[in-house]
Amino acid sequence: MHNALLAKGNYGSEELTMFQETARRFMQTEVAPNVLKWDEQGHVDRELWNKAGEVGLLCPSIPVEYGGGGGDFAFEKVLIEEQAKAGCSAWGLSLHNGIVAHYILHYGTEDQKKSWLPKLASGEYVSAIAMTEPGTGSDLQSVRTTAIADGDDYVINGSKVFITNGQQADLIIVVAKTNPTEKAKGVSLIVVETPKVSGFRRGRNLEKVGMHGQDTSELFFENVRVPKTNLLGKSEGMGFMQLMQQLPQERLIVALAGVAAMELALDITTQYCKDRKAFGRSIIDFQNTRFKLAEARTEATLARVFVEKCTEMLIAGKLDPATAAMSKYWITDKQFEIIDLCLQLHGGYGYMNEYPISRLWRDSRVQRIYGGTNEIMKELIGRFL
Ligand SMILES: Cc1cc2nc3c(=O)[nH]c(=O)nc-3n(C[C@H](O)[C@H](O)[C@H](O)COP(=O)(O)OP(=O)(O)OC[C@H]3O[C@@H](n4cnc5c(N)ncnc54)[C@H](O)[C@@H]3O)c2cc1C
Repeated sequence: MHNALLAKGNYGSEELTMFQETARRFMQTEVAPNVLKWDEQGHVDRELWNKAGEVGLLCPSIPVEYGGGGGDFAFEKVLIEEQAKAGCSAWGLSLHNGIVAHYILHYGTEDQKKSWLPKLASGEYVSAIAMTEPGTGSDLQSVRTTAIADGDDYVINGSKVFITNGQQADLIIVVAKTNPTEKAKGVSLIVVETPKVSGFRRGRNLEKVGMHGQDTSELFFENVRVPKTNLLGKSEGMGFMQLMQQLPQERLIVALAGVAAMELALDITTQYCKDRKAFGRSIIDFQNTRFKLAEARTEATLARVFVEKCTEMLIAGKLDPATAAMSKYWITDKQFEIIDLCLQLHGGYGYMNEYPISRLWRDSRVQRIYGGTNEIMKELIGRFL
């Protein structure tokens, strides 16, 4: 069925098929066997990034002249789906590939692109984007981190929280106020290369309800000096607009991971319900079980159709903010609802950590919060009504 829904662009190309095979092999050999180890240590191994760079899994949708794979968003989608199938929520790959690299691609000068993107593509640099602060998350216009011009530099002060890849990041896009007296118009995006600065400190790698293997950190900036040439965009004050332009892609990435997770949960659970016996028959033979699974599979199919359509729109440059917000909120709400049902159908075993459904359940909760909360998504959709 999916073939009929496939987006254009690189879809169906030989390159994409080969890329998918490489991605699948890599996820099976380098990722899946390490998931439990990463859960315990709270982050992926640093070498994972370099290994992924070597086989071309970093920055596949960045042009070849900047070290990328030269493909379109279909390549990012493949990675998101293959990572989900490997049962890995630890690796902040889609953030590095699909979000940070694209800010540099879209707003960077030629010098910035040539200097940073090849490092992101090889794995020499791990990247992060630091928007959220202890005092503000949804209300991004109110960030308090400042980047004040001083001669040829910006001097950055402030703290950030919940930053994915924070412990390992070598390149961080920092959302800061270059003009603290303004709200949105005072916001700029400034790149910090952590090996090159002093005054930058990583705080705790935070303990979370789920996604135990993902590095989610506090970051502190105390008189961190970066050259003014690290500003993204032609002038100061463009940061808020740049964020608004890039957030639809970030939201689609969250939605794609959501659909992949609900499909995986349904596959696992359907098999479990066929195998598990109660009252002398398989639990799938109870009409309640069959009806619940039938409803959930229907909704997962709707989610799949929607997300394929959104991907097609994104590749065509037509994914508008409201539709992206719809996909993020509706799919992640459904993801949690469906996975919660799947856990219920596992009975007590569903609550045991050794069963994959328990991990999917823990990991799915945050999808409704990050990338803009689902309440903020509805606010956004509401503005376009
Ligand atoms: C695992 C994880 C990874 C993350 N990774 C990153 C990252 O890499 N980079 C980064 O910058 N951030 C990251 N975040 C932060 C995330 O984006 C924020 O947590 C999120 O945007 C919400 O902000 P907040 O936590 O400050 O909640 P708040 O903004 O304080 O919101 C609290 C509640 O109020 C509601 N609310 C707020 N405003 C409104 C409104 N106008 N109308 C209705 N309801 C409203 C919210 O929906 C929410 O329910 C991550 C978070 C987590 C948990």
